[in-house]
Amino acid sequence: MKTNLSFEFFPPRSAKIAAQLRDTYHALARLDPVYFSVTYGAGGSTRDKTLETVLEIRRETGLEAVPHLSCIGSSQEEIRRILAQYRENGIRRIVALRGDLPSGMRADGDFRYASELVKFVRAETGDYFHIEVAAYPEAHPQAASYKADLRAFQRKVEAGADGAITQYFYNPDAYFYFLEDCRREGIEIPIVPGIMPITNYQQLARFSDLCGAEIPRWIRKQLESFGDDLESIRAFGVDVVTGLCDKLLQGGAPGLHFYTLNRAEPTLAICRNLDLVPR
Ligand code: FAD
Repeated sequence: MKTNLSFEFFPPRSAKIAAQLRDTYHALARLDPVYFSVTYGAGGSTRDKTLETVLEIRRETGLEAVPHLSCIGSSQEEIRRILAQYRENGIRRIVALRGDLPSGMRADGDFRYASELVKFVRAETGDYFHIEVAAYPEAHPQAASYKADLRAFQRKVEAGADGAITQYFYNPDAYFYFLEDCRREGIEIPIVPGIMPITNYQQLARFSDLCGAEIPRWIRKQLESFGDDLESIRAFGVDVVTGLCDKLLQGGAPGLHFYTLNRAEPTLAICRNLDLVPR
């Protein structure tokens, strides 16, 4: 059976990164993903760039490309305009998020939580969009508790989300327990695990602290021991993440969503090991 893949990018900030991204999406298009997605900067900072990148990827690959849309700091009118622009461009799927404002910036928009955005999109556009939302098997860092976060996720589903993509994690049990809890609460939408390839330890550690993703001690210790030896970090990372993906797929995950960081090779190496790259 074909594995459902999706690949996430961020909008390029320079011509050089744009050229790199072009090579990346062409290389990953060979894997025939269900869609590519493009992130959306907090407070609308990449609004035009997100749409531009989505349209370019769709035009160049002929595959579906999906914009993320975050609501924190935005007014209803702004979101209404963006939705209209997406519709004019024939975009049928979005990833709906709250987003994070840069520290020091006040949130005085019309939305507090992603569930309010999902509700708004449904009220404005009915069933037009397929809506993906975020899920957190290890709980969102600002959540009052694991249970409260599960309830927050449930609110997004009740508001009309069609599917979810998880924050990345390296412990497959976190995903399977979360999935079981969701099913117990009557949440039936597909929940696709988000996969973060490991290529740079310092960067990963910093990012994981911020977004509340745990790097298990045994992985941390091994990565630390490689120091500046990027080749060993890369080889170990591919090995660990291949094992994780394999367990997730064997356990029934409905697909894999890769946080590519705009680079093809780490994701390709993992997909090659999983036999997902056509020869
Ligand atoms: P929410 O679901 O609103 O949850 C945020 C917090 O509020 C959680 O702690 C939740 O428990 C709590 N909460 C929710 N509802 C309630 C309530 N009614 N009462 C009390 N507490 C509540 N960020 C970007 O800026 N741009 C992107 O493109 C982007 N893409 C992402 C893609 C994926 C797949 C993922 C997993 C994350 C992405 N993010 C992106 C990061 C995301 O915006 C942050 O993780 C953000 O902190 C939370 O967004 P959310 O949509 O999960 O928020």
